[in-house]
Amino acid sequence: MNIPQSDLPRVIVVGGGFGGVTLSRKLTKQNFQVVLIDRHNYHNFQPLMYQVATSGLEPDSIAFPLRGLVEDRKNFLFRLGEVNSIDPDKKIVCSSIGDVSYDYLVIATGTKTNFFGNKDLEEASLQMKSVPQALNIRSYMLQNLEKATLTNDVEEQKKLMRIVLSGAGPTGVELAGAFAEFKKGVLKNDYPDLNPELMEIHLLDGSDRVLASMSEKASQKAEKYLRKLGVQIHLNVLVKNYEEETVLTNTDLQIVAYTFIWSAGVIGNPIKGLREESVDERSQRFLVDKMNRVEGYEGIFAIGDIALMKTEEFPKGHPQVAQPAIQQGKLLVKNFKRLVNNQPLKEFSYLDKGSMATIGRNKAVADVKNFTLGGFLAWITWLGVHLYFLVGVRNRLVVFLNWIYNYFNFDRAARVIIRPYQKKKINSKLK
Ligand SMILES: Cc1cc2nc3c(=O)[nH]c(=O)nc-3n(C[C@H](O)[C@H](O)[C@H](O)COP(=O)(O)OP(=O)(O)OC[C@H]3O[C@@H](n4cnc5c(N)ncnc54)[C@H](O)[C@@H]3O)c2cc1C
Repeated sequence: MNIPQSDLPRVIVVGGGFGGVTLSRKLTKQNFQVVLIDRHNYHNFQPLMYQVATSGLEPDSIAFPLRGLVEDRKNFLFRLGEVNSIDPDKKIVCSSIGDVSYDYLVIATGTKTNFFGNKDLEEASLQMKSVPQALNIRSYMLQNLEKATLTNDVEEQKKLMRIVLSGAGPTGVELAGAFAEFKKGVLKNDYPDLNPELMEIHLLDGSDRVLASMSEKASQKAEKYLRKLGVQIHLNVLVKNYEEETVLTNTDLQIVAYTFIWSAGVIGNPIKGLREESVDERSQRFLVDKMNRVEGYEGIFAIGDIALMKTEEFPKGHPQVAQPAIQQGKLLVKNFKRLVNNQPLKEFSYLDKGSMATIGRNKAVADVKNFTLGGFLAWITWLGVHLYFLVGVRNRLVVFLNWIYNYFNFDRAARVIIRPYQKKKINSKLK
C-alpha cells in the first residue's frame, strides 16, 4: 500500500465508526502518523439509519466523508479498502488494497447482523447495518406500495403492504414506529387508492417485552406508544425461518409478507490472523484488557463494539452502543501518549450516560441513571442528543431542517425509489 514514510510511529486504525473516528481525529493532533482504513469512504451515523429506511432523511445526511475528518491532514491518511487479515509477527495488515506495516494497530470494525447461523434467513430477509441496506428497505417498501396499486386483489395488497420485523430492540422498535407514522401520513396522502388499514406492521420478539435492554418502565411505555400507533406486537415468539414470503415462528403464528426485516441483534466483525483465544466464540468480539489491548498482544488494540472488556460491573462486556466506542477512543489517545513516554497506561471506566429510543412523533423513552423519561420530553432529548453526536456541521443542519419540515408538514420527503431493490432469494415470488 502506498503510504508515505514518516519518522512518527504509525498507527493503523481499521474502521471509521464512532470509535475509529474519535480516535483518529484526536490522535492526528499528537505525534503519530494515523492511517485510517475503511471499506466505505464515509462514517455512517447508524442511529439515524431507520429514518433513511422510512423515507424521513436522505442517505447523505447521515454519512460523513472520512477524508474530511481532520483539517490538518499532514499526519492523517485515509485509505478505502477492506482489511482481510493481520500478521502480528510481521506487524502487517493485509487488505484488498495491499499490505501495510504498523507500529500500533487499532481494530474498530464494529459488528454485523447476527442471523445465528441461519443462512436461509440471511439470504431472504432485509437487514439494516449499512446505508445501502437502509436504502434497500426504503426502495422495497415503496416498490411494494406501487405494486399494490396495480391490483384489486385485497389479499395480495395485504401481502405487499404488510411489514414484519423480527427483533424488538431499539432498531426494530424505531423502525416499527417510523413505519406506523408513514402509514398515518404519507400513505394516506400519496396513495388515496389504497386502504391504509391494509398496511399492517408486525413486531416480533423472543423475549417478554420490547426494548429488553432498557428498564421495565421504558419497555412498558414503548409498548404502549407502539400499540397506540397501531403496531401489532407479538412477544415470546421466535422467528424460525422465512420461506415463500412466509414468516415461520416457534408458535402457531405465521405471517405472509413480502417485506420481512431482521432486526434481532448483532455479532462481532473480527479480522482474521490473531490467536483463536483472542476472540470470544459466542459474541465474536476481541477479548481486551482494561486498556483495550487485545489479549496476548502488546501493540494491538480493539475499541467499540468489537471489543469485549469484561469487568466486575460489566461481566458480559459494555453495551454495544456509541458511547463506549467514543469513550474508549478518547482514552486510547491518552494511552498512546503514555505508551510512547513509557508511562503506565490508564484503565477504562465507562460513564453510562443512559439509553434512549424513539417511537414516533413526540414519543420516545429514555433511561437516565435511575429515571425513566417518556413522551415529549424524552423525544426532545432524543432529538438534541442525536443532533449533537451527528458528525459534520452540514449534516446537522440538513437533518435539523428536515425534521422541522417533516414535523410541520407530516411529510417524509425522501420517498423516492432511486435504486430499485430486487430480492436475491431464488424461491421468491418477487424475483
Ligand atoms: C440500526 C442501528 C441503530 C443504532 N442506534 C443507536 C443509538 O440510537 N444509540 C447508540 O448509542 N447506538 C446505536 N447503535 C449502535 C451504534 O451504532 C454502535 O454501537 C456503534 O456504531 C459502534 O461503533 P464502532 O466504532 O465500534 O463500530 P461501527 O460504528 O460499526 O464502525 C465500524 C466501521 O468499521 C468498518 N469496517 C468493518 N470491517 C471492516 C474491514 N474488515 N475493513 C475495513 N473497514 C471495516 C465499517 O465500514 C464501519 O465504518 C445503533 C446501531 C444500529 C445498527
